[in-house]
Amino acid sequence: STKLVLAQASPRQETVGTVVVMHDVTELRRLETMRRDFVANVSHELRTPVSIIRATAETLQEGALDDPKHAKRFLDALIRNSERLGRLISDLLDISRIEAGEYALEAGELPLQRAAERAVDAVAAHAASRSIDISIDITDDLCAVADANALDQVLLNLVGNAVKYSHEGGQVSIRGRSLDEHVVLEVVDDGPGIPAAHRDRIFERFYRVDSGRSREVGGTGLGLSIVKHLVTSMNGQIGYKAATPRGSIFWFTLPAC
Ligand code: ADP
Repeated sequence: STKLVLAQASPRQETVGTVVVMHDVTELRRLETMRRDFVANVSHELRTPVSIIRATAETLQEGALDDPKHAKRFLDALIRNSERLGRLISDLLDISRIEAGEYALEAGELPLQRAAERAVDAVAAHAASRSIDISIDITDDLCAVADANALDQVLLNLVGNAVKYSHEGGQVSIRGRSLDEHVVLEVVDDGPGIPAAHRDRIFERFYRVDSGRSREVGGTGLGLSIVKHLVTSMNGQIGYKAATPRGSIFWFTLPAC
């Protein structure tokens, strides 16, 4: 951030005024630290599955291939870790495209009920396997000005997280309403919620409340930072609040049609 300070002209001089421009060095330093942390995190996150894939393949080559019981487990590990690597690469590409301004957003008038239905359809099999029920409470005339792909990605991520982090048998709902010139969408679950101490940071890249749990459910820690980028690029806001008696509410706004 830049601060402008106007100095008073002394009466005896011809000077009308002096403009002093001060750059906020702490802000620059904070951004540099964030960038460095990001590179370190990327290296670590990419190296981990690569090391596992390599070690697993070597073990198979050194003889485990001939032991059918072990071979199956090692092959599963190969598939799981290459999937993970694929997800990381595609999330990282999304982030760099968005930040470089190359994620072309096209504004259209989008009916939100149908967008919510598409997100539910995409997670239906996963939700069913965990006996999670998903309901939609959006009137059929609710409409936002947004990019269709970006909106789908935002909803899919939030609904996907609600299913991933909820307890088996949980209840997820997608609610929508209009508020002044905006629409507000909420993805609500009755899962474990996010402890207050973590709430300010969940939209940061690679930030995870429980990295073991996140990995186990296939998370990269990048989803919410991509979602936040997309929502703000579409002139909306996003936030988190605790649900009562328990669970999470991820809400975001978009301009109404
Ligand atoms: P991930 O790929 O790990 O899911 P996200 O950026 O999507 O990354 O989410 C960041 C972290 O926020 C997750 O690791 C998880 O700890 C927490 N989180 C996100 N959504 C929920 C939710 N609905 N309920 C509980 N915790 C959540």
